[in-house]
Amino acid sequence: MARYTGPSCRICRREGLKLYLKGDRCYSDKCALNRRQTAPGQHGAKKGKVSGYGTQLREKQKVKRFYGLLETQFRSTYDRAEKMKGITGENLLQLLELRFDNVVYRLGFGNSRKEARQFVTHGHFTINGSKADIPSMTLAVGDVIQLKEKMMSSDKFKALMEASRTAPNWLEVNLEKMEGKLVALPARDNIDLPIEEHLIVELYSK
Ligand code: SF4
Repeated sequence: MARYTGPSCRICRREGLKLYLKGDRCYSDKCALNRRQTAPGQHGAKKGKVSGYGTQLREKQKVKRFYGLLETQFRSTYDRAEKMKGITGENLLQLLELRFDNVVYRLGFGNSRKEARQFVTHGHFTINGSKADIPSMTLAVGDVIQLKEKMMSSDKFKALMEASRTAPNWLEVNLEKMEGKLVALPARDNIDLPIEEHLIVELYSK
């Protein structure tokens, strides 16, 4: 699956906010945004007037990058959201939150979405006891995600168990067993990201 492999901090500087792409580093003084807040590139420090289209485009790029998706994947998720009942923007965010890699990250089983995706593609987790290694899978209420037994002794996962991050209320976590369950669908209020999803709908509706 295609993915962005360039410098992560450059993306945060482009969007002008922390996207938490590098795990622990993002919460430390080493975060690049603490040192330099201008956009990358020769003209990064220049601030011009941003058009309506520019604002919509930036919002879309920001959300895409939060979840680590490329344009085609993001657009197909949007198309699915549009076909669902309800508000397209909220459906879009819900589908993004329900991605397997995002759920692993939200459960605290990865320090960043990027790391969670890597764990998923390496087949470290099961869903409802079955093998699952596709990060884009959409999970459903009742699904149980569990770390494979043989990975429980790895230093990486032991450290994650000890870090015990707080999971959102639509997920239930058992850190000792490295197991999580999706107990509800994430509602808009549960998604604590600074996103104005209506701008994305406006952009794609042109
Ligand atoms: Fe973004 Fe994390 Fe880099 Fe800070 S350290 S700029 S939050 S990726």
